[in-house]
Amino acid sequence: YTTLRLLLGDQLNLQHSWFKEKRDDVLYVLMELRSETDYVWHHLQKVCAFLAAMEEFASMLNAEGHTVVYYKLDDPENLQTFSSNCAHLIRQFQIRHFEYQQPDEYRVDSELKEFCTSLHISSAMLDSEHFYTTRDELAVFFEGKKTILMENFYRAMRRKHDVLMIGRDPLGDQWNFDEENRKKLPAKHKPTPPLLFHNDVRKTYERISKTGMKTIGAIMPDDLGWPLNRKQSLALLDHFLKECLPLFGTFQDAMQQHEWSLYHSRLSFSLNTKMISPAEVVNAALQEWKSNSKIIALNQLEGFVRQILGWREYMRGLYWMKMPSFEEVNFFDHQRKLPDWYWTGATKMNCLKQCISQSLQYAYAHHIQRLMITGNFALLAGIKPADVDFWYLGIYIDAIQWVELPNTRGMSQYADGGITASKPYTGSANYIHKMSNYCGSCYYDRSAKTGDAACPFNSLYWDFHDRHRDKLEKNPRLSMVYRLWDKMRPTERKAILLRAADCLDRMDDL
Ligand code: FAD
Ligand code: SF4
Repeated sequence: YTTLRLLLGDQLNLQHSWFKEKRDDVLYVLMELRSETDYVWHHLQKVCAFLAAMEEFASMLNAEGHTVVYYKLDDPENLQTFSSNCAHLIRQFQIRHFEYQQPDEYRVDSELKEFCTSLHISSAMLDSEHFYTTRDELAVFFEGKKTILMENFYRAMRRKHDVLMIGRDPLGDQWNFDEENRKKLPAKHKPTPPLLFHNDVRKTYERISKTGMKTIGAIMPDDLGWPLNRKQSLALLDHFLKECLPLFGTFQDAMQQHEWSLYHSRLSFSLNTKMISPAEVVNAALQEWKSNSKIIALNQLEGFVRQILGWREYMRGLYWMKMPSFEEVNFFDHQRKLPDWYWTGATKMNCLKQCISQSLQYAYAHHIQRLMITGNFALLAGIKPADVDFWYLGIYIDAIQWVELPNTRGMSQYADGGITASKPYTGSANYIHKMSNYCGSCYYDRSAKTGDAACPFNSLYWDFHDRHRDKLEKNPRLSMVYRLWDKMRPTERKAILLRAADCLDRMDDL
């Protein structure tokens, strides 16, 4: 072999132009590494799914006539970092050229750049051929502009890629159908059950267990439900289009006890590992809508397209625009430690108990559960953003830093001071009750703000806004909040702040 090509665990893209021709002079390498499995406490399903999907990808490439070296976690010759394993292979096979695809994580990007400068052979970084946009496209788009609004970027992407457009105008004369979306689930409505696969990952599971790696969450190793290859990913996409897309927008923000994925696609793992591409998902949704426009209304389709062509690309652009300082921002100087029950679900607050337990069981929670339950509480309670990131980066099947960090630190914790979000995403029991049925079976009283039985969200909501008045008061989107607060009687305000202080003091027992 004269060329070594490194593939990362989130680069399982069979459609990449690398694989269009079989070359005898190219050696591919994939590796399971402790440097990747140990930087946070990952969910067991996440580690198993990543490693099993990587191994399957390597076998598929081998079967198609490519030559692949695959290092398993416990292989004695595995040196456990990208650089050392690649350096070893370069020596062993007297490789003359090294190539890799553009990494999505800053940490890996830096490691590989440094590795290439240390080499005495030529090297090249190629496009991963996955995203709609380039790494710096968002930065260029917003250069010199005061605000970095997702909406502006999304509209430009719709135009550029001609998605849901008639000439320069949006189809249906509207860019956004949010008013028709975001309904609570009606009482007797039974959502379509999620499509789960029955993957046997016992060998991968045993390999992980043997290392003694610290993991979290539950798993049935003989019955892992997540897609592990392109075929399963396409089957999941097809299931979504037929069964979920017709109601995706309507119930996008709904939360329901014992229903863990509702009408969401659960495609994030397939997308983030690049087993499928955002363009093929969007195009398939457009196609399905064209053939079934009586069943799929435009608001459902637009709501979905916005997540992928809008939010996903926007978050990636922000990550590359703001790294590495993004990892350090802490606008509110929040310093409290994450309560222990984030790791167990053992809290009397039913919304948190449901969302955390579900996350531990399935390695999944949908966007509003992440943003308005677990994220909302952490923000109101003033949890250290580093602790919040550590949790989100481990627990979800789709958690990779480039998408986790802007969502957690930026959108959910407002730690960037308002770059990702135009106001902090906060809510009291009012919002949670409006969008879910959690409050009905909660220990706490959703309507009370003070007293031991009062829902902690209610006092913490006001305490947060009061505490950070100097930083938030001038935000026009919050003027109503401060007007309401100021209108309350001083004794009422005092009682609310006392209840909040009590909740913060006894956070582990809430
Ligand atoms: P659907 O609701 O079906 O949406 C379709 C697709 O749109 C998703 O698969 C995803 O690729 C994309 N998408 C939707 N919202 C976002 C968003 N805000 N940012 C980027 N892509 C989006 N997503 C991750 O992929 N990895 C993470 O680590 C992650 N961490 C998050 C942390 C917090 C605090 C929050 C609030 C959100 C986070 N998200 C993350 C975004 C979003 O919650 C998930 O992408 C989504 O829940 C995945 O489920 P799904 O595939 O069923 O999504
Ligand atoms: Fe959550 Fe409060 Fe409702 Fe209980 S009452 S479920 S803690 S919002």
